[in-house]
Amino acid sequence: MNGEASGKNIIMVGAGLVGSLLSIYLQKRGNQVTLVEKRPDMRLAGSIGGRSINLALSNRGWRALKETGVAAQVEKLAIPMKGRMMHDPEGKLTFQPYGKEGQAIFSVSRAGLNQLLMNEAEQCGVNIYFNQDCESINFEETIVFAKNNKNKTTQAFKGDVIIGTDGAFSVVRETIMKSGRFNYSQSYIDHGYKELSIPPTKATAFALEPNALHIWPRGRFMLIALPNADRSFTCTLFLPFEGEDSFSALKSEKAIMDFFRSTFPDALPLIPALLDDYFRNPTSSLVTVKCYPWVKGNTLILGDASHAIVPFYGQGMNSGFEDCYLLNKMIDTHRGNWKEILARFQAVRKPDTDAIADLAIQNFLEMRDKVADENFLLRKRIEGRLNELYPQKWIPLYSMVTFSDIGYARAMAVGKRQEAIMDEVMTKENIRDTWQQLDFDEIVQKLTTD
Ligand SMILES: Cc1cc2nc3c(=O)[nH]c(=O)nc-3n(C[C@H](O)[C@H](O)[C@H](O)COP(=O)(O)OP(=O)(O)OC[C@H]3O[C@@H](n4cnc5c(N)ncnc54)[C@H](O)[C@@H]3O)c2cc1C
Repeated sequence: MNGEASGKNIIMVGAGLVGSLLSIYLQKRGNQVTLVEKRPDMRLAGSIGGRSINLALSNRGWRALKETGVAAQVEKLAIPMKGRMMHDPEGKLTFQPYGKEGQAIFSVSRAGLNQLLMNEAEQCGVNIYFNQDCESINFEETIVFAKNNKNKTTQAFKGDVIIGTDGAFSVVRETIMKSGRFNYSQSYIDHGYKELSIPPTKATAFALEPNALHIWPRGRFMLIALPNADRSFTCTLFLPFEGEDSFSALKSEKAIMDFFRSTFPDALPLIPALLDDYFRNPTSSLVTVKCYPWVKGNTLILGDASHAIVPFYGQGMNSGFEDCYLLNKMIDTHRGNWKEILARFQAVRKPDTDAIADLAIQNFLEMRDKVADENFLLRKRIEGRLNELYPQKWIPLYSMVTFSDIGYARAMAVGKRQEAIMDEVMTKENIRDTWQQLDFDEIVQKLTTD
């Protein structure tokens, strides 16, 4: 296993977003990649439903897409969202930019992106086997055993390296876990989510401003909407599972309509199929998975398989794509010595993925609650000014996570320091009227001196 950065036979489990992208990286390096995917080929007619589900793509994701040469194609699918558009209970709108002029996150169709990556992977020479459900692994011999969902036969895929990119409920991870000395935690939040749809208007236009991520923040819960290329929006309703204003409380047509009428009055007329969507679409749960080690022999888990996070920072896929970028760098650094690559990769990456898992939970509180708060908006304005004056020294946490490649753990540590400084600034008397006269130089110095 030493010495060669190419020429390996690599078996990957899971042709989702991360697996498909990583297969391109590895195949382009001169390895032979085999992707084993349990679902049917989503590119074949009838395989995907009519619903459009989208994701926010940002800097870390783009970096990997650029490096693999697919960014230009993805750009055609992507709609820039320059900031949050908040909808208050009276329907009043407030726009809050995500970053500086010219910075945006991008709404991309999950299925469209996955299909594009699979096409590219196959064009590079990756072999994708569909309907193959990985059931077990022989770590010593580096063999994946998968059951064909159609004819129920089991096939063995033997390689030099195995990579599990089989998502939050990874079987590869489960198999490593069974082999012992494996730390694992999973925690569900009290909230679940349900997808709803805002179709285009009768004049086939977007029903809302397309270049924004729309949020209806309501304290314990929220609704968000991201634009699609077909001019619809996919909405996601985040509600607690239990209690007042929860999925368990909203069971009847009347309860749902009353809830939307009183809570999201401006969204209600835009969702004509609300009841159909509500009853037809599943209520899904949201989990954080942390585990370690990610390596067993020559087998590695990566993407959601090793670090599934809640979606509130829009970083699940982006962090998985960053995994691919970093793994590729390590293949260069360690000149194809996979033992070293795998050991080093997990050691370097783990603190960062733990950090983004915690930041994602933290951002849930911010999105559903604080974004509607006057003090929070003032804080953001002051931080924006600090960033304008000292662009290298004061980068707001959201920007470090979304628009930079600073490690997540470092971003979190700097963010905590900034938060403490801003807590102090916000206690200044009459801050609302006097913030423009603050000594910004003194504030920024505190980042390094205290
Ligand atoms: C509601 C919601 C919104 C989100 N929004 C964002 C966002 O805006 N931005 C963002 O960056 N991230 C977002 N995410 C996170 C993102 O969806 C995931 O991080 C990303 O899909 C992880 O990719 P993956 O390839 O690791 O796993 P997956 O996308 O889950 O792919 C896993 C693949 O493995 C296959 N598989 C599973 N088991 C087996 C098996 N036994 N054998 C063979 N194949 C198998 C599956 O069929 C699938 O194709 C969101 C997640 C949710 C739930």
